[in-house]
Amino acid sequence: MKKIVFATNNQHKLGEVRAMIGKHFEVLSLQDIDCNEDIPEDGLTFEENAIQKALYIKDNYGYDCFADDSGLEVTALDNAPGVFSARYAGEPSNSQRNIEKLMCEMQGKEERSARFRTCVAYITDSEKKIFEGCIEGNIITTLRGFNGFGYDPLFVPCGYDITFAEMSSEEKNKISHRAIAIQKLIEYLLRN
Ligand code: IMP
Repeated sequence: MKKIVFATNNQHKLGEVRAMIGKHFEVLSLQDIDCNEDIPEDGLTFEENAIQKALYIKDNYGYDCFADDSGLEVTALDNAPGVFSARYAGEPSNSQRNIEKLMCEMQGKEERSARFRTCVAYITDSEKKIFEGCIEGNIITTLRGFNGFGYDPLFVPCGYDITFAEMSSEEKNKISHRAIAIQKLIEYLLRN
């Protein structure tokens, strides 16, 4: 089976992606290739960050690689936290504090629409491809659910009445921003 590196050590993302792509490719994590350093991620867009991460692995480790960069855009907050989603409440990254900050910023706001976005960059010696995924939804006022990660307990996707954190991983994997982008990557890989 062809090996492909997913430039992440986030076990939630790895599980999500392996569930989708694992029957076609062997997906290696950064840990699997002994990459223990912090990969630079200082772009101003999801696309810049995804390319930066995938290129770093291709250049330094030689593997065909894909990397994702994702985040939450909240309309009433001028699309914050966006590319700063992981460190919204400051360093070091902490989901609990990020969620508390978001709830605080959203207090009293009537406009609750938001979207998760993902950009996936896939880089080989001869290819550089970008795949995007987006899911629209709303930010609720109290936390609901224990599954998933990050802002999941506050995000209800359009057309649903449960949060990402109340969905099973199978359910979330069918509709999430990352699922949409990864599905596009899989279709590309299988075509080429
Ligand atoms: P990353 O840079 O792609 O790892 O994502 C940045 C941050 O966006 C994460 O630390 C989470 O706070 C948030 N995020 C990205 N995807 C999701 C998701 O599927 N659910 C909840 N939060 C997410």
